[in-house]
Order: sequence, then C-alpha cells, then structure tokens
Amino acid sequence: MQKRKTTGLVWFRNDLRVSDQHALSQAVMAHDRVVGIYHIPTSWLKTTPWGFKKMEGFRAKFLLETLQQLRSDLDAINISLWITTGNWKETLLELQQKHQVTDLYGQKEWTQEEVDDEMEIPTDITTHWHYDQFLFHPDDIPMTVENIPEVFTVFRKKCEKHSIVRAPIETPPAMPPENKLSNTPETPSLLSLGYSKNKEDSRTAIPFSGGEKAAWERMNEYFWETEQLSYYKKTRNGLLGKKYSSKLSLWLAFGSISPRSIYASVKKYEQKIIKNDSTYWLVFELIWRDYFKYISLKHQNRVFHLGGILQKSYEWEDNKHRIQKWIDGNTPEPFVNANMRELRCTGFMSNRGRQNVASFFAKEWKLDWRIGAAYFEAMLIDYDVHSNYGNWMYNAGVGNDPRDRKFNVAWQAERYDPNKKYQNTWLQTTLF
Ligand SMILES: Cc1cc2nc3c(=O)[nH]c(=O)nc-3n(C[C@H](O)[C@H](O)[C@H](O)COP(=O)(O)OP(=O)(O)OC[C@H]3O[C@@H](n4cnc5c(N)ncnc54)[C@H](O)[C@@H]3O)c2cc1C
Repeated sequence: MQKRKTTGLVWFRNDLRVSDQHALSQAVMAHDRVVGIYHIPTSWLKTTPWGFKKMEGFRAKFLLETLQQLRSDLDAINISLWITTGNWKETLLELQQKHQVTDLYGQKEWTQEEVDDEMEIPTDITTHWHYDQFLFHPDDIPMTVENIPEVFTVFRKKCEKHSIVRAPIETPPAMPPENKLSNTPETPSLLSLGYSKNKEDSRTAIPFSGGEKAAWERMNEYFWETEQLSYYKKTRNGLLGKKYSSKLSLWLAFGSISPRSIYASVKKYEQKIIKNDSTYWLVFELIWRDYFKYISLKHQNRVFHLGGILQKSYEWEDNKHRIQKWIDGNTPEPFVNANMRELRCTGFMSNRGRQNVASFFAKEWKLDWRIGAAYFEAMLIDYDVHSNYGNWMYNAGVGNDPRDRKFNVAWQAERYDPNKKYQNTWLQTTLF
C-alpha cells in the first residue's frame, strides 16, 4: 500500500496498547506521518454533586501509569503521544493546522460523553472508526444489534455456535525516526491533576500497575507461572488476595490488553496445559463483558435511566444519610461494610462483593441505583461504562435479569466468608 504524505492522528481512548490495536496499525499503514493523542476531559477531575470526583485517585494513578507505558511503547516505534488536559476542540484544531492532519483513527464509542467528544472533531478530518473493544466483532455476530437478545444465555449460545474470535494482530512496524515530534506535553502527574498520593494498602488484592507490559505480566503469572487458570471456576468467587480471579479487568478497562489476546492465550493454554471447565469459564465471563457492550449499543442512553432498559417504575429514594453510610461501610450488614471499605482503600472489589453491595443499595435500601453506580464509576480502577451500568441495572432489577432478585447478604457472607476472614481483614479499618 502506497503511504500518503499526510498525517494520521490516532486518538487513543480505552484502547491504550500497541499490540492488536487496529486504529494504530491502520494509520501506520496509510500515512507517512502518525501522531498519537490522548485526552483527559476536565469533567473527570471535577467533584460530582454526590461529593466525589468522577475519577477518583486510584483510577487516576492507574491511568497515568498506563499512559506512561503507552508513551514509551509508542516511542519505540517512533510515534509521539500528545496528552492533553486542555480544551479538546482547540487541541485538535491546533494539531490539525500544525501537522496537516487529514485523517483520524480511533476506537468507536457510543455512550453520550464519548459521542460528545467525537462531535468536536473538525469536519474536514476524515474519521476511521474501529470496534476494537469486543471479543466478537460486531460484523461477526449472527444477529443485528437491534436483535441482541435480552437474555445473556441466548446471546452467548448463538455467538459460541456461529461467531469467531479474530486472531490478534502484531504491533505495527516502526516509523522512521523523523516521525517523532520534537516536543510534546509531558505526561501529567497526579499532583498536577489535583490528586494527592494514594495510600498503599498491604491488604490489596491488586498489587499491580497500569500499562500493557503489566497486563501481559499478570496474564503470564495467572496462566503460565502459577497455572491458576486451571482452577478459575472453583476460585473465582473468592474475596482475598490476588489468586482468586484473573484481575484482568484492570487492564481490559483501559484497553491495555485486548479480549482477543486473552482468548488466544486461553486457547494456547488449553493446548499446552489443560482444557477444562475453568478455561472455558474465563471465556464465558469475557462473553458477559461483550454482552453488556452490546446491550448498551442496542439500548444507548437508556442504560443510564432510572427505569433502565426495562423502563420499570419502582419507588427509589435518595436518602443522603444512608448513601453516606453505604459509602463509608457503616451499614447494619458487616459483609457490605467490609466490601465498601476494601473499595475505599484499594479501588477494587470482587465480583461477589459488587453483587452484594449493589443489591443491598438498590433492593434493600431502595436507593437510586444510579448513585451507587456513579460511586463505583469514581472508585473502581477497572471502571467500564458498559459493565458497570449493565451490572448495576441487572442487580437493581431494571436490566437483563427477568427475575427481580435480591441477595440475602447474611446468607452470602456465611457461604463465601464462613470463618469471617475477609470481614475481619477489612472491618479493622477505622471508620472514615
Ligand atoms: C455492580 C457491579 C458493577 C461492576 N462494574 C464493573 C466495571 O465497572 N468494570 C468491569 O470490568 N467489571 C465490572 N463488574 C463485573 C465484575 O465484577 C468484574 O469484571 C470482575 O470482578 C473483575 O475481576 P477479574 O478481572 O478478576 O474477573 P474474572 O473473574 O477473572 O473474569 C475475567 C473477566 O471477565 C469479565 N467479567 C467477569 N465478570 C463479569 C461481569 N459480571 N460483567 C462483565 N464482565 C465480567 C471481566 O472483563 C473480567 O476481567 C461489575 C459487577 C457488578 C456486580
């Protein structure tokens, strides 16, 4: 393919990696100059009406580590990364004029805030979008988006039978050294973004850093070094330590690793080590992740509505006192409290914990589930708009669970934490 003597801009979003990165690869193939850009919207740094920032410190730290790694990986192929915290529209115009940008390459998003950002792209720049966040590419699923089933099992079975997972692609070849820009803004620091340093907590289940390299290291550890993958189905409901589940959500959320790369590694593992119900189950969970993306693609902004995609009209409360008690881990349920304190101290909570605290918030105290979801959005390092709002809707009885269920938290604590090891670990935390 003849390269065009123009600049292709790669807009990095939640696809912060260089391998299996279609936007980047396409730009490198098409242009003789390529520049990367990442935008940190100022809205992420502001405090919401609920008293917490849209992006709290744990996620901010992980994001900065991720960007630092991306910058160095791009540097190795002679591409500069321009990180902006300023006015998005003006930055785009400035880059367009300075570097004769004709084309923009990026991952397609469809939720409102992301679409608003897309609207700022100058109209004379040609855009090339990729659905790079999926396990099953939208062109490969055996149904239209309008016909995505409302029941997960139906979706999963159809995809497993009739779809394929595309093979990951390599990191693109290096551009010539003169492709690098002579000066780009530095990666911001936590301090410059208005955050103070997070306290490290030795009890954390996620002693990891952000970035593509750390993602592959974790996958190697979980799959090949410790072979934890062979026991995933039995251990995945655990609560303490780094072993009980993959923790790959941390990097999937930022796109530091693609679900296709994880899938390819699972297949390799099945050939070389063992193929069992655990190896299958990890892929099963990745299909859940895809499913929530398809649900929001189908229902668009309805996933943010109080009535959810079912348009249910339950009575909801916004009792501020109770919301604060839930946030502080100071409810009558010790299991909820332990989980909320873990989240507050580390930016992570297990899947079992998330289900219980969400159910307690929405079904026991009947609080407006969107406030709970917004708190998760602020605190979770692995925050992903589709998985977060999809799971919250599900647990609040306004999403993809036809049964309107409530978790019996005390029973769950008895079953998953019978000797109270987890609760004792986190309940020692002084009240906030
Ligand atoms: C109320 C609530 C909010 C949630 N918010 C998020 C969120 O913002 N971001 C997020 O990535 N996950 C979210 N989850 C899903 C799930 O809890 C996490 O993906 C999981 O705990 C991450 O840990 P892991 O990587 O060790 O998971 P593993 O058990 O190792 O699973 C492997 C991967 O499968 C996917 N996965 C597993 N369970 C789910 C699920 N229920 N829904 C969607 N994908 C799943 C994740 O990508 C995960 O990394 C939420 C769940 C609940 C109940």
